[in-house]
Amino acid sequence: MELLHLKSLDLKDKKVFIRCDFNVPMDEFGNISDDRRIRSAVTTINYCLDQDCAVILASHLGRPQGQMIEKYSLAPVARRLQQLLKRHVELASDVVGKDAMKRTKELPRHEVLLLENLRYEAGETTNDEKLSKKLASMAEFYINDAFGVSHRAHSSVYGITKFFDDSHKAAGFLLEREINFFAKLINDPVRPFAAIVGGSKVSGKLEALVNLLPKVDKIFIGGGMAFTFLKQMGYNIGASLVEDDLLEEAQKIMDEAKKLGVKFYLPVDVIAAEKFAANAVSKIVTAQEIPDNWMGLDIGPATVRLYREGLNDVQTILWNGPMGVYEMDKFARGSSKIAHYVADSYATTVVGGGDTADLVQRIGVDEEISFISTGGGASLELLEGKVLPGVEPLLIKER
Ligand code: AMP
Repeated sequence: MELLHLKSLDLKDKKVFIRCDFNVPMDEFGNISDDRRIRSAVTTINYCLDQDCAVILASHLGRPQGQMIEKYSLAPVARRLQQLLKRHVELASDVVGKDAMKRTKELPRHEVLLLENLRYEAGETTNDEKLSKKLASMAEFYINDAFGVSHRAHSSVYGITKFFDDSHKAAGFLLEREINFFAKLINDPVRPFAAIVGGSKVSGKLEALVNLLPKVDKIFIGGGMAFTFLKQMGYNIGASLVEDDLLEEAQKIMDEAKKLGVKFYLPVDVIAAEKFAANAVSKIVTAQEIPDNWMGLDIGPATVRLYREGLNDVQTILWNGPMGVYEMDKFARGSSKIAHYVADSYATTVVGGGDTADLVQRIGVDEEISFISTGGGASLELLEGKVLPGVEPLLIKER
């Protein structure tokens, strides 16, 4: 599986369209809390500028669902990009409207133009052909460097590729690095291989869990998703997050783990709170004793110790999803302790997902992680062995 290389394109003096993933996390004041995704895109952008290109950048941010909502404007991204590139970055006021079409047409070489949030257009997520065509008409070359969204068959990721032949499209450096890294991780992991999986819902990660089972030696579950498993095991989980329609699936996963000899770890204690709030009264309780109407919002200290012991002998760790509601200090300790442990480990450590990457950066251990992926969902789908829809059109076809 080889990708169309950016360096094979004849870009000299041309106009290029780069699909980036600038979907960065923001804090409560609207500041960018982790700009890794923006920093990671700089290599490809600078390469194109070095080739004397005019550069059009496009990304989504959040879920504005086809509405022009100011909160989701890419203006803060344009400002950060400007600092990182040390050059002026224009921001169009729309995506494929009058302003964007005019500016892309007139864009001179060595200039960078960022389109407004792609998801201001409802057609982006429905892979609308008209939108793909308009976006494609802006440039002579298409480059996908948006690993984090390459598992989505969206207009700017998938539909657009058919308007460019193989000598006019390629994977950016970030996309290529991510794909190559995960290919190695799937085909040749150093064992024992452990996955730490957290986050809010089982539903988002169900398929990934099922597909990870035959590949890993141990799985450690945290976050809100743990409670669906605990409920299925007969525990009273109070008012914790649960997906009742997935109880049976949860049982199947636990059965399959047993069959395959995969060690399946669940929290043995949790930090329970009276309500979902940063100032809620909270206490440490065992998984067996979550009071009625209380909700588990983090893993407890005994779970942290247990998980550390289980992780002691592993050689490869993949971590996707926080262990608790890490955005609130009170419920961030479990994630923070696991982050420190993973960072200190001599194993190859891989962190995937916007939230988990944000978390390790907030805690300040990001430099100690072997590889931080810019895509959570995308990396999980790669581990499932899938070819991502945004990547498939960029593969060099066997002759
Ligand atoms: P995901 O997008 O599925 O990776 O989930 C990340 C989110 O899960 C974060 O915003 C966390 O606040 C949230 N989360 C983690 N643990 C819990 C929990 N025990 N209850 C509710 N939400 C949680």
